[in-house]
Amino acid sequence: MQYADGVSRDEFDQLTDDMKAILLAAEAFSWYHFDKELVITSMIRPDDKGVHGVGRGVDIRSHNYGKEEIARFVAFMNFAFPYGRGKPTALFHNVGKGDHIHLQSPD
Ligand SMILES: [Zn+2]
Repeated sequence: MQYADGVSRDEFDQLTDDMKAILLAAEAFSWYHFDKELVITSMIRPDDKGVHGVGRGVDIRSHNYGKEEIARFVAFMNFAFPYGRGKPTALFHNVGKGDHIHLQSPD
């Protein structure tokens, strides 16, 4: 697991237990299938009103994966960790700061 600039290891400890489990599974999948280490680009954002504000969201760098790899990655995470309520655990998106894989866990 690597942390991008501005992301600290301490933030990992602030994640919920479910979010930690999801993240560690994502890392295992990435290593096992793609030989690639996860790069965390964002975790805790205190001012965020969404999941990043409460330790239930993690952003992963995506440009080091191919399109097909991203699709498999996202599909596996949603299969292994169903979020429920019609929401995904993993999605690939761009909300203004560039493409990334967003992981989240239900509360
Ligand atoms: Zn996110």
